[in-house]
Amino acid sequence: MDPKVEHFMAAIKAKNPSQPEFHQAVHEVAESLIPFIEEHPRYKHSKILERIAEPERVIIFRVPWINDKGEVEINRGFRIEMNSAIGPYKGGLRFHPTVNLGILKFLAFEQVFKNSLTTLPMGGGKGGSDFDPKGKSDNEVMRFCQSFMTELCRHIGPNTDIPAGDIGVGGREIGYLFGQYKRIRNEFTGVLTGKGLEWGGSVIRPEATGYGAVYFAQEMLSMKDDSLEGKVCVVSGSGNVAQFTTQKVNELGGKVVTLSDSAGFIYDPKGIDAEKLAWVMDLKNIRRGRIKEYAEEFGCEYHDGKRPWSVPCDVAFPSATENEIRKEDAETLVKNNCRVISEGANMPSTPEAIEIYQKNKLLFGPGKAANAGGVAVSGLEMTQNSMRLPWNRDEVDNRLHMIMKNIHATCVKYGSEGEYIDYVKGANIGGFVKVADAMLAQGVV
Ligand code: NDP
Repeated sequence: MDPKVEHFMAAIKAKNPSQPEFHQAVHEVAESLIPFIEEHPRYKHSKILERIAEPERVIIFRVPWINDKGEVEINRGFRIEMNSAIGPYKGGLRFHPTVNLGILKFLAFEQVFKNSLTTLPMGGGKGGSDFDPKGKSDNEVMRFCQSFMTELCRHIGPNTDIPAGDIGVGGREIGYLFGQYKRIRNEFTGVLTGKGLEWGGSVIRPEATGYGAVYFAQEMLSMKDDSLEGKVCVVSGSGNVAQFTTQKVNELGGKVVTLSDSAGFIYDPKGIDAEKLAWVMDLKNIRRGRIKEYAEEFGCEYHDGKRPWSVPCDVAFPSATENEIRKEDAETLVKNNCRVISEGANMPSTPEAIEIYQKNKLLFGPGKAANAGGVAVSGLEMTQNSMRLPWNRDEVDNRLHMIMKNIHATCVKYGSEGEYIDYVKGANIGGFVKVADAMLAQGVV
């Protein structure tokens, strides 16, 4: 390891003990940025990287609520307000039992660079709770969301901090959260994104992350005069990002053969076409069932407790969670001739997996670039809320497509190394420069 990176990381680890995901995210960025900062001393002398790695504010709070049996339950709520140099804090809320401070700090840190890459004026934040919506009734989810927002509403606002969804937070949860914010503050504002279309939401927001990850893959392939037409694609997860990734791959002539959840994956070599995808959406979003039921419905393989990376493919779209592709999985993908990885999820590849991709010159789009479409359309939702004027589907989709092309171009600008494009370096430096220059301009704050 570069001794300067090692020195920087030693300080980060000492100051943020027991937060391995945060260390992992900062390390990846430091490896790209420290050599760049050495060449640009103004960032070094102002300790911009050290400041970016320290959240502007961390809020931790108690979330008490009453379950259907009349018992009191207590969860922990968080909001990390990471960086507001280029705009108000913006980033999703995650409800999942694994949520802790370190996970949310990694996500908030990544969000700063991602939001900058979109070119929209958004700072970075993230939040959530260790609440598990799985197996809870709608009323329990509502009571939890109301309690969560009763505290969170003091800290957020349409010009301060604008949360959105993430794992475990979809349209239902955003609705309950928004209702409670409106009730307490007595104002109808764009304080959350991912809202329903009838009450301030944007068309294409649910689709945006998945569509964006596919547009990004398409851009990477176009550098090789290739396209998604006829490509076999492996997708993990079966939630929001996975569903709309599948939809866009189908539209562009590719074939998705897997989906998964935390219990296992299905392999459907005939492809998950529009009709089967509609069934999955009903299963996951309405009936809230398990992906295993797909195999029973459509008569295909189900692999219990496994992830889908052993299935031969041309393109992989990890769309479930962090560190879901490990070294051995990356080796298997390479052995099976996978050429493209576009990360719909945040940090789904371990550092060892990324090393394998780069050694084998795969086209690898890291999450902070490839999945930025979600927050980009959240930014467009904020614009529409401010104007009080909704755009139509084509308008939003065209803007999303253009933003993903621009992010790709930024990665190429900062990440080209001869023939090879290091998209990790490109995204890290491309996302950094705008935030760093804004921080320099605003003084030591
Ligand atoms: P959802 O909650 O809609 O879906 C998550 C999916 O991933 C589910 O199928 C879930 O299975 C699976 N999953 C979650 N945790 C694990 C785990 N530990 N192991 C295996 N599978 C798991 O979330 P999203 O689709 O919104 O988010 C997926 C990823 O995309 C996350 O990394 C998120 O941070 C990222 N992302 C999302 C954005 C958005 O706009 N929604 C924007 C940018 C990134 P199960 O139901 O069994 O838990």
